[in-house]
Amino acid sequence: VSIKSHKWVIAGQGLAGTCLAWELWKNDIPFTVIDPDMGGSSRIAAGMVNPITGKNFQPSWRIDEFMPFARSFYDEVENFTGSKFWYDFPVLRLASSQAEWDKIVSKLNEPLVAPWITGQVHAPDGWVGAVEVHGGGRLDTRLFLDVSRAFFTELGVFEIGVAAKDVPGTIWCDGAVGLMSERYGPHRCAKGEILTVNAPSWDESRIRIGAGGWLVPVGASNFKVGATYEWNELNQIPTEKGRIRVEEIACRLGGEDFQMITHDAGIRPILRRSEPLIGPLGNNEWMFNALGSKGSLYAPGIATRLANWLVYDVAAEPTVNFREFLKQR
Ligand SMILES: Cc1cc2nc3c(=O)[nH]c(=O)nc-3n(C[C@H](O)[C@H](O)[C@H](O)COP(=O)(O)OP(=O)(O)OC[C@H]3O[C@@H](n4cnc5c(N)ncnc54)[C@H](O)[C@@H]3O)c2cc1C
Repeated sequence: VSIKSHKWVIAGQGLAGTCLAWELWKNDIPFTVIDPDMGGSSRIAAGMVNPITGKNFQPSWRIDEFMPFARSFYDEVENFTGSKFWYDFPVLRLASSQAEWDKIVSKLNEPLVAPWITGQVHAPDGWVGAVEVHGGGRLDTRLFLDVSRAFFTELGVFEIGVAAKDVPGTIWCDGAVGLMSERYGPHRCAKGEILTVNAPSWDESRIRIGAGGWLVPVGASNFKVGATYEWNELNQIPTEKGRIRVEEIACRLGGEDFQMITHDAGIRPILRRSEPLIGPLGNNEWMFNALGSKGSLYAPGIATRLANWLVYDVAAEPTVNFREFLKQR
């Protein structure tokens, strides 16, 4: 069967399935997308992209390649659909201890870090130091998914439902559901809880990151605040414990003056940190998973690699190739 006449089934319409659908559509390859419309982590994610991350203040994995690619991908879909999902934001990285601040300062001139740094800024009360990072932003993930779904529905290639197992031509983009079935072996999925709050007195000009949490302005004095990491109770049910923890983050980063609007929980699909994987599974089934905590950054670039693999038989580089991952495991 010629690859062009083969009809692919994309199982799952989170960030992975949605970006892949756009890539197949651009290449004029027939497909359908199927999703049960029962949550998924992309729908509740903050959508933040932060170039220099974590306790160690390190560049996100291959940020230099994936960031510009993601920007132009979202730009293209925005122009095509006439909707806006991507917002540039500087990131204010706050240090809560001298040790953390020393670590940050020691990295500021590293060649992979320096290009993303705007400079040190005055630390707000209660913080030891602060630095501004540029080049990041926020994807309105839910709007991106909804607008994409509307477009694919109009084309007659989207349906609500659960993809059947063992059907050749299925590309599994089923996130944590797929990883938790253990069909790829042991996983490290992590539940996360997140609040949307209204806080007219907070600064809406920057993402704030510090003390193990973050807050992201989403417009109209609303902010996403998160997030917890929990490895045991892997479900999408918000808990009181989670809410209390995220409220603490909100108080620390924004202040006490806020009102909760929504409280959600989701499961981050993790196999190894936040480095995604793609590849064939046998039976002409394929996988695209393991976006971890960074789906907004990696989904476009990885979807493009998978489309090139499916359409032109160009295998992805070893670092994102699921077969190579299995060999090294
Ligand atoms: C609290 C929280 C905050 C986060 N914040 C950020 C952030 O700020 N920035 C960032 O980049 N990332 C963030 N993430 C991570 C981000 O959510 C993930 O990287 C990304 O959404 C994963 O996308 P996915 O498409 O692989 O999975 P999902 O979005 O989970 O999509 C999988 C889809 O497959 C469907 N499905 C399951 N089984 C089947 C089946 N048999 N047939 C058909 N469909 C099926 C599911 O219903 C779901 O819709 C956050 C995650 C959490 C939990």
